Amino acid sequence: MARASGPCQGAPDTGETPVLQNMQSEFVDLHCHSTASDGTLLPADVVRLAVRSGLSALALTDHDTIGGVAEAAAEAKKLGIDFLPGIEISAEYPSPGTMHILGYGVDPNSASLKRLTDQLIEGRDNRNPRIVAKLNEMNVAVTMDEWENEAKGNVLGRPQLAAILLRKGYVSSIKQAFDKYIGQGAPAYFDKERLTPKRALAMIRESGGLPVLAHPIQLRTTNDGQLDRIVKDLLDLGLAGLEIIHSDHDAAWVEKCTSLADRYGLLKTGGSDFHGTNKKDIELGVARGRRIPRELFDALTQRLAAGQRTSAG
Ligand code: AMP
Ligand code: ZN
Ligand code: FE
Ligand code: FE
Repeated sequence: MARASGPCQGAPDTGETPVLQNMQSEFVDLHCHSTASDGTLLPADVVRLAVRSGLSALALTDHDTIGGVAEAAAEAKKLGIDFLPGIEISAEYPSPGTMHILGYGVDPNSASLKRLTDQLIEGRDNRNPRIVAKLNEMNVAVTMDEWENEAKGNVLGRPQLAAILLRKGYVSSIKQAFDKYIGQGAPAYFDKERLTPKRALAMIRESGGLPVLAHPIQLRTTNDGQLDRIVKDLLDLGLAGLEIIHSDHDAAWVEKCTSLADRYGLLKTGGSDFHGTNKKDIELGVARGRRIPRELFDALTQRLAAGQRTSAG
């Protein structure tokens, strides 16, 4: 029988009563966002969806925060799915590309992680009022208070601001809010200060995590040699892995990143980059029709465990 290839199918179709509790699903998702950053599902709801989708492990990787990790971890424990705390950081990188670094297995209680997230939030706090001031100049009536209310105690991200502009009738879609006002190249766009790649990698390591280069396609390198050089440079700075499977990666990119990771002995990870309805076409556990094999999660957790043994010894 052919393996289930449809999205989010859990147990194999044997006609028998599924015994999910005793069976380890072959699939995981190691890159997703919750309301703690710019996703639309609560952290616990992302975990519930993962279970419904037949996944056996999940890593939550909100932008700049681990604010959703405790809730997700508790729900994962309750439902019997493996869980790994994660974070996603934007590093300094020349436009039009972007460099995002995932940090897996960071210790939520470590002082360096607190330093890291404080610094990232400060970058946003410096940027956000400039966006609002510019919008006001353009006769768009919106305030920082409204934005903070919309964020409900979570990280302030532009998608929430876009939602306010939509609700108030300044735009007819989230996309239009970015195109017309707050997206890259639009009049009320301001960049936030970013960490250098060196610092991002070091701080993830100091927080007990493993740094992984997210969706390498978004670097927008113009040839394979350039990509190879960047990965090599990051490796020298402590990079531990490459995200090979991602919703932006077609088969050629999955293959390219796989051989690059193998060449440098890097871990391979994969995830959907699920954001709930903020990215409507992305389903949890599915990256461009591809699912993420459990073995990627196992290799990652084994490396983390080995690191802990080393640092404890
Ligand atoms: P921020 O972290 O506040 O800079 O906001 C970044 C988030 O805004 C991204 O993670 C996307 O979810 C969203 N975003 C950025 N550019 C666009 C765009 N052109 N259209 C829709 N969403 C966007
Ligand atoms: Zn996002
Ligand atoms: Fe990203
Ligand atoms: Fe992401």
